[in-house]
Amino acid sequence: MKSEDLFKDAKNYLPGGVDSPVRAIKPYPFFALKAEGPRLFDVDGNSYLDYCLAYGPLVLGHAYPPVMETVSKQLSNGSAYGVPTENEIKLAKEVVKRVPCADMVRFVNSGTEATMSAIRLARAVTGKNKILKFEGAYHGAHDYVLVKSGSGAAGLPDSPGVPEETTKNTLLAPFNDAEAITSLVKKEKDDLAAIILEPVMGNVGCIPPKREFLEFLREITAENGIILIFDEVITGFRIAKGGAQEYFDVTPDLVTMGKILGGGFPMGAFAGKKEFMERIAPQGDVYQAGTFNGNPISITAGLETMKHLDEKFYQESETSGLKMRRGLENILEDASLNYQVAGLSSMFQIYFTQSEVWDYAQAKTADTEKFNTYFQTLLANGVFIPPSQFECCFLSQAHSPEDIQITLEAMEKGIKAAE
Ligand code: PLP
Repeated sequence: MKSEDLFKDAKNYLPGGVDSPVRAIKPYPFFALKAEGPRLFDVDGNSYLDYCLAYGPLVLGHAYPPVMETVSKQLSNGSAYGVPTENEIKLAKEVVKRVPCADMVRFVNSGTEATMSAIRLARAVTGKNKILKFEGAYHGAHDYVLVKSGSGAAGLPDSPGVPEETTKNTLLAPFNDAEAITSLVKKEKDDLAAIILEPVMGNVGCIPPKREFLEFLREITAENGIILIFDEVITGFRIAKGGAQEYFDVTPDLVTMGKILGGGFPMGAFAGKKEFMERIAPQGDVYQAGTFNGNPISITAGLETMKHLDEKFYQESETSGLKMRRGLENILEDASLNYQVAGLSSMFQIYFTQSEVWDYAQAKTADTEKFNTYFQTLLANGVFIPPSQFECCFLSQAHSPEDIQITLEAMEKGIKAAE
């Protein structure tokens, strides 16, 4: 069956025909057949240079042979044990070696579980209930954080089914706005357990932090007994060996991770200073558990992936990201459109707006119809980016300079079509 027919069939059995909202590409999503390196292949016989990369995990490209081989070996030894494995210790040591704030790690199955658990821990160690998140930031699909979250929950700032009693404990502030935080902290510090942020906002496009903003957050949280949580589900292992905290040289109390950590398999984790992590059960009293926690397949894939994320990898990520963003700027300079090209390292996005984009409100000024025309033109020309303006595009190690050149040519067509 072809994608269009599969989608019709899927809608009878899967709500909206998909298993996650952003996948419902209009008029219908292409259905994947296989993937290799920088490319996705669909059931209709098309192939696409892929900058969605499963929304971030595939930093080495699809089906990276060393990861696939290691996982195949592990598969023949079983897929879940319900008892610990040596590889869990090895991957935890790797995380501790790389990530500045990490003394101890708990492996879970998704970024959603990671942020949910890190918030519980922050509440437990501070004895306070409120948390503060930034407008447009996405920290997963659980109740505490489903308030004005990014693309994944577009139109669902308060999803039905999320009790008000839960979200009344979730405060909101604009990103990169130190004044707003100062007055909120002054008012709420006795109730505020944690500030959680995506250090680079990857769920409203791509919004980098002002460096002094991260430093300011570190100071104000330390001074007021508030736990600082960096949600590095996207930035972790992508923009530097130790994630955004290394890139910007600001160390939080807790970090949440996912995506790349599982080497393309389901995985999440949270980590932090020993004094906090020791509170996690069974060492401590803060409950956290999971049937598939530390799953041997995901752990093996993550461990193999880490071997390939060396200094050279991060230098090349900088180079290819820069090539992509400069290429886009060159095309846009000649176009009769307002635009911003945003990103860092291997992350990028364009906004069709004249406003600078430092927060959610500014990102929302972007012309999403133009973005949709750009997206559809790219797709028709064999380039797949996330279908929403409010997602981030990713490069992988598998994208060659020639691939980037082909992509820029398709982007030029997309931008012309959007004019
Ligand atoms: N945090 C951030 C920053 C994310 O981008 C995401 C997912 O995109 C999550 C948390 C949730 O992760 P998961 O989809 O693995 O539950």
